[in-house]
Amino acid sequence: MTKPCSKCHQLNPAEAAFCLNCASPIGPIAPSPQFGGPTGAPTPSQKGLISLILAIVALVCCGPFAGIPAAILGWMELDSIKNGRSPADNKWMAMVGLWGGIASTVLHIIGYVLYVMLGMLSAMSSPYDY
Ligand SMILES: [Zn+2]
Repeated sequence: MTKPCSKCHQLNPAEAAFCLNCASPIGPIAPSPQFGGPTGAPTPSQKGLISLILAIVALVCCGPFAGIPAAILGWMELDSIKNGRSPADNKWMAMVGLWGGIASTVLHIIGYVLYVMLGMLSAMSSPYDY
């Protein structure tokens, strides 16, 4: 395991604090994207993004069927962010997923209840329409 110098690209032993060639300080290695961070950085999570997409789907078509999973995923992602298991970059997505999922579920339930009530009202009043 060697660390390249950021100034002269000399390869130095992993335990070296200063470059063998130019003596400039060698910081921690930048995490290489293909292997994930070696420093125990939180692994990127897709839950926030999935939650966001589900919330949008819930709003445009499926109501509770997508809204409830969106809210659950958003909640789980917010929990992961709070515990440092997920990067905070996804926090807005998780928030939108959670509240968007809840909002679209509630809206669809209200819409459904209104629809049923209107149907019942028209069914009750229909005998007198003749
Ligand atoms: Zn160097």
